[in-house]
Amino acid sequence: MQAVAVTAVARNRIERLRLDFAGAVQGVGFRPFVFRLACAEGLHGFVRNSGSGATVEVEGLASSVQRFLARLDAELPPPVRIHKRRAQSLAPHGTGQEFRVVPSTTEARPSALVIPDLATCAQCLEEVLDPADRRHAYAFTTCVHCGPRYSIVDALPYDRERTSMRGFRMCAACSEEYANPASRRFHAETIACPDCGPQLVLWDRGGREAAAGNKALLGAVAALQDGLILAVKSLGGYQLLADAANEDAVRRLRERKRRPRKPFATMFPSLASAMQAASISDIEQELLLSPEAPIVLVRANPGGPALAPNLAPGNPCLGIMLPYTPLHHLLLRQFDGPLVATSGNARDEPIATGNDEALERLGAIADLFLVHDRPILHAVDDSVVRVVAGRGIVLRRARGHAPLPIACHAVDRPLLALGGQQKNAVATAFDGNIFLGPHVGDLNSPRTRDACTRAATELPALHALEPAVVACDRHPDYFTSRLAAYCAGPVIRVQHHLAHVLSCMADNEVEAPVLGVAWDGTGWGDDGSIWGGEFLRVGDTGYRRFAHLQQFRLPGGDAAIREPRRAALGLLYAIFGARALEMTSLPTIAAFSRQELALLGGMLRRGVNAPVTSSAGRLFDAAASILDLAQISSFEGEAAMAVEFAADGSNFVLSLPPPVPVDQGGMLILDWQPMFAALIAERNAGASIPSLAAALHESLARAIVAVAERAALPRVMLSGGCFQNARLTQCAVNRLRGAGFEPNWHRRIPPNDGGLAAGQIVFAANPLIQETC
Ligand SMILES: [Zn+2]
Ligand SMILES: [Zn+2]
Ligand SMILES: [Zn+2]
Repeated sequence: MQAVAVTAVARNRIERLRLDFAGAVQGVGFRPFVFRLACAEGLHGFVRNSGSGATVEVEGLASSVQRFLARLDAELPPPVRIHKRRAQSLAPHGTGQEFRVVPSTTEARPSALVIPDLATCAQCLEEVLDPADRRHAYAFTTCVHCGPRYSIVDALPYDRERTSMRGFRMCAACSEEYANPASRRFHAETIACPDCGPQLVLWDRGGREAAAGNKALLGAVAALQDGLILAVKSLGGYQLLADAANEDAVRRLRERKRRPRKPFATMFPSLASAMQAASISDIEQELLLSPEAPIVLVRANPGGPALAPNLAPGNPCLGIMLPYTPLHHLLLRQFDGPLVATSGNARDEPIATGNDEALERLGAIADLFLVHDRPILHAVDDSVVRVVAGRGIVLRRARGHAPLPIACHAVDRPLLALGGQQKNAVATAFDGNIFLGPHVGDLNSPRTRDACTRAATELPALHALEPAVVACDRHPDYFTSRLAAYCAGPVIRVQHHLAHVLSCMADNEVEAPVLGVAWDGTGWGDDGSIWGGEFLRVGDTGYRRFAHLQQFRLPGGDAAIREPRRAALGLLYAIFGARALEMTSLPTIAAFSRQELALLGGMLRRGVNAPVTSSAGRLFDAAASILDLAQISSFEGEAAMAVEFAADGSNFVLSLPPPVPVDQGGMLILDWQPMFAALIAERNAGASIPSLAAALHESLARAIVAVAERAALPRVMLSGGCFQNARLTQCAVNRLRGAGFEPNWHRRIPPNDGGLAAGQIVFAANPLIQETC
């Protein structure tokens, strides 16, 4: 009886509680959510954004405060993610009878998280399509749950004045919604309408206005219907659009972009229309419809509606996406068919973001420009995701994903990592998190190098960080290795394949010890040679190269990256010696002239201009050439993809002897000669290409298991560009599991060089693993 009375007294006591939240709490509707909850429970106090997240103070009956806390956890809206929460009891103020959203505080080092750009939500789309709504057909409709975030933010905390929306003064109607707790746009920093927000304009190639507002949109659609190429200012940069069913339009886009064969991504008006063109699994549907709305690589449906055959020549996959802004929804609905939607850049350049810049850089590609006046502050390309071994893995990390944090507990001081040379992305880290910035591109042009330099400055600046250490690759000729020397602070150089393995460990939150399988095209090895078929033992105190694929020579060095036939020639020479040059029935040898063979044969014989490599990527290239799937590539990964796709029609009856680990002076070498000799013999005996390609994948997966058995570590990490190959990854995962191992592959961090910066951060944060053990 007495206990009940005490509890009742406690419940009726007035309490004031302060809560500090860190995590994804800005730009995701957290303040409106807290406001409504506090009002519903009759509490007074305030909520505000801060440099480190959000702060809430609530005051009222203890029982109401308890209910508030319980509901806060139970009813949290999905995009909000709380990483840390600190609660503190305060003396009740006793004054003030309302709950308010108050102005943000700023701190010296903002540690709040920047939210990525989010695809248009269902409610906003409904308004855009409703002729009676005041935002009908308005291309910049957003709310607290959707719209641009990272691409328009230049500082924290996330408030309109620190976004590129600051130039747009809210009209009376928008101000009313912004201040109204009952509105979906209560404190929506991107709030806008046709009366006060950004506007569309259609420009000709010379930047002369052809139409504005809704007429601009209709003019753009008419141009697309006429087969013209349209540059559109999207969320994080320009895109190039063309009719995906018009072979002629796609051909012109290829010519002008100097992109002969690399597949183009295609945007469909709806999931239903995409499902006619491709077979899309449940996981893939979920990815397409997610707020990240990435490009998803799916299987084309051969019986589907007519798409231009030159959209993805020789490729059974289609990169598809759905509209992710009201502008895209309006364009695609009006056009009523799929559109090529590729990055707005010339070859080897970063995506264009500024209007004048687009005119200058895309003027030779696009016929018309659909632009608007909301500046893009950070370039963010479309993300690319593929389902590999039952899970969506990010192949290009950009819109929707960057710069969300990835936990890394060892990070206890500000760090910067500059990544690699290809598919560059930079990362920063502080307070136990890695922030992998968006895809920058291949650093082969001055413009992408400038973009990389900018990213290396802007990403830490967003959080006012001064990195204590700068990490980069060990390759002496990477642009990022030179850039590191110009950065303040000590430089740590990280072995390429170790960075791949560490990134995979961070992605899966796996601790050492592990066996890391790092298979890719090229990476600077600790011995100065080109590595790429590596098995690394990673422990708490160091790492060691444990095994690798047998080396072979690449005649002409880097030229072999573009010419799979050269990799094949080097490999055949390793097996058959000079006899290889006479095997004219092999497609590889037939692909060269006699003079070329004499020249390259000389390089191989003398070992001049023919560096050795242990690259698994080059091994796939060699297989592509021997199976006559590709002799010269027009884009990176083309030949390896051809081998993967060739295996599709296989019935799995064939098997090839797997490379066997042989101990050579304490290092295990995987000898692939019997496998390739059998591949060639089977081919000459008339075995089908699909069954040979399938058998090759199985053999390589068996070799991985053989090394794992020698390493005897339960956890195996699969990283490097080769593990973008869904068949290879699936084979390796199945066989490793079958042998009792725990395979780990990527999720949010790309397995390719786009993930290197994350691995470099892990290395820089763990002083213990800096010595080779
Ligand atoms: Zn919305
Ligand atoms: Zn307005
Ligand atoms: Zn790599």
